Amino acid sequence: MQGVNQTMMHNMQSLSKSQTSVSKIECYVCGKGLEDGHCITAKTLPNGTVLFCDVHYSLQ
Ligand SMILES: [Zn+2]
Repeated sequence: MQGVNQTMMHNMQSLSKSQTSVSKIECYVCGKGLEDGHCITAKTLPNGTVLFCDVHYSLQ
């Protein structure tokens, strides 16, 4: 069990590091985010995953 706990701790640390690398959740097009009252949705494109607000997500 101890080994399992250590693995979980390691995964959580890796996850938190990756989240801090993403500065902010905001629209890829207009840069508006949850703080501006927009609903942000992730969309997977051939060149990677990008985030769109409710306006620009429907335009894609
Ligand atoms: Zn937008």
